[in-house]
Amino acid sequence: MTDAIDFDPNALRDKYRLERDRRIRDEGNAQYVEIADRYAHFSEDPYVEVPIDRAPLTDEVDYVIIGGGFGGLMAGARLRDAGVKNIRMIEAAADFGGTWYWNRYPGAACDIESFVYLPLLEETGYVPVEKYSRAPEIFEHSRRIARQWNLYDDACFQTSVTDMVWDEAAERWIIHTNRGDAMKARFVIMSNGPLNKPKLPGIPGIETFKGHAFHTSRWDYEYTGGDVLGNLDRLGDKRVGIIGTGATAVQCVPHLAAGAKELYVFQRTPSAVNVRGDRPTDLEWVKTLQPGWQRRRMDNFNILVSGGYQDEDLVADGWTEAFRELVHIARKESAQGLGPEKLAELAELADFATMNRIRGRIDEVVRDREVAEALKPWYRQFCKRPCFHDDYLPAFNRPSVKLVDTHGKGVERITENAIIANGETYEIDCLVFATGFEVGTGYTRRAGYDFTGKNGLAFSDAWSGGVRSLHGIMVSGFPNLFLMGAPQGGFTANYPHNLIEQAGHITYILGEAAARQAHTVEPTVEAENAWVDTIVDKARLNEDYLAACTPGYYNNEGHPQLANRRNTTYGGGSMEYFEILKAWREAGEMPGLSVA
Ligand code: NDP
Repeated sequence: MTDAIDFDPNALRDKYRLERDRRIRDEGNAQYVEIADRYAHFSEDPYVEVPIDRAPLTDEVDYVIIGGGFGGLMAGARLRDAGVKNIRMIEAAADFGGTWYWNRYPGAACDIESFVYLPLLEETGYVPVEKYSRAPEIFEHSRRIARQWNLYDDACFQTSVTDMVWDEAAERWIIHTNRGDAMKARFVIMSNGPLNKPKLPGIPGIETFKGHAFHTSRWDYEYTGGDVLGNLDRLGDKRVGIIGTGATAVQCVPHLAAGAKELYVFQRTPSAVNVRGDRPTDLEWVKTLQPGWQRRRMDNFNILVSGGYQDEDLVADGWTEAFRELVHIARKESAQGLGPEKLAELAELADFATMNRIRGRIDEVVRDREVAEALKPWYRQFCKRPCFHDDYLPAFNRPSVKLVDTHGKGVERITENAIIANGETYEIDCLVFATGFEVGTGYTRRAGYDFTGKNGLAFSDAWSGGVRSLHGIMVSGFPNLFLMGAPQGGFTANYPHNLIEQAGHITYILGEAAARQAHTVEPTVEAENAWVDTIVDKARLNEDYLAACTPGYYNNEGHPQLANRRNTTYGGGSMEYFEILKAWREAGEMPGLSVA
């Protein structure tokens, strides 16, 4: 690798720094507008077929699970496997599916291989139809899990928790909802999702737009025609603008391009778009899979994308390829006794080479030289979510599609009928916000409700100085409550993998609690402090890398040094985190938990 460099690393470092600096904004996350009040309609559910009408519930159940995405489903399935009958799921949407309920924009699909992404494939016997599942297949798989584990029984859909209080005397959680419920639960599991609350850009004039506007996670098919597979047949006479060029836009732009009379893509930072290479499942290959294959495949993928070594790369796609070279270098050079600094330098060179290939692909596909140049990403590969798509770049060869590159500045202004960028006015009929989801805002703001634990302590206050937890799962002062998700937990590109591990861990704790006839379980402050220290310590590992990155939600919008280290995921990687959970379970006696 070092012998074969055909680029100037210093020139690339300078270019990356320049592109980063022109995007840094002092206001960081405050540049975005919360979807609330006058913007509340942007988060209304356009997919509900039959609005529910039911009497408020004031009964008691043993287990309430809040959130019907993969986290909640995994927790529900594991509890059922453990013999639990009394489970109530609460979900704001009208069905299970979580992110795959909401994200039905045209082209929505998952770019993590279906055979590792879709949970419980062996248990359900389901065989994904392609290497990368499209959104409807994943949504349906969520429903399949819910059916197989009887999670539709007693589920409360179209129900949003508004508030929750720990009743100390009764040792029950009282859960209030927008349906007037005041139900009681012995144990509550919350899986509210990491990217669940859409956000809007704080562009001046955004409130004045009189054309049609919606966020990608609430797609208005009444207006555009077509469905999640495309065919937007009502846009033939429409001028459409889309703001944002992240992973979502990369998937829906080709469909907007095919349907709209004119499409304006407003770009602040280009995504790095690598080859997708989707293909139908080879059923002969499926026949060769041996029991336990999914766990092995998930582990194999996760180890590779965490920078670990495996003899074989089972998934062998753009994700694992991205790490393969880095791991190869690390192994080879470590054998030669090189120190971490030299290794980091070599990893950077490999990264430059990969990004050069990604930029080269743009030159090959996009005909207009100026457009091709504007579409090139100038940052290291994991500064932003890597994208994999084969139709995004060609969309810019259509005469009806115009890339409006704002050179890192973003859209200037929105008027009644137009978008202003680079001093030019672009009149449009429809505006699509592909501007992503809240990251880094308060936990309870994203969940949509606050809750009160022992001694009247509000959760928002408990976490006001940053996340504190044992393993990202339990919080002192909040007995019988379990959180699922990434803060202080394990981050992996294959997000459900972390949820599966956490669901198993929670089920173990609940099983132990039942076996001991415990009324309450709660971490000790000491155990929690020790975990917080571990998180803070490990968080330093990634900071230099992130500080050199162009802004985005991966690096606290360009200000990683201002981010609270306590709010990060476990910096040692998800595989190490899973090992920690496993060792904790194997230690028995649930160290650090107070069991009453
Ligand atoms: P992102 O947050 O990734 O992208 C938001 C986009 O909006 C960025 O391009 C951002 O630009 C742009 N933007 C924000 N403000 C402005 C402005 N004022 N003017 C112009 N542009 C602006 O959201 P996505 O919905 O695309 O993706 C969110 C996440 O969802 C992904 O990172 C991924 O984790 C997940 N996802 C996963 C998929 C999968 O296949 N598994 C598919 C789709 C999404 P800038 O970059 O400059 O901030």
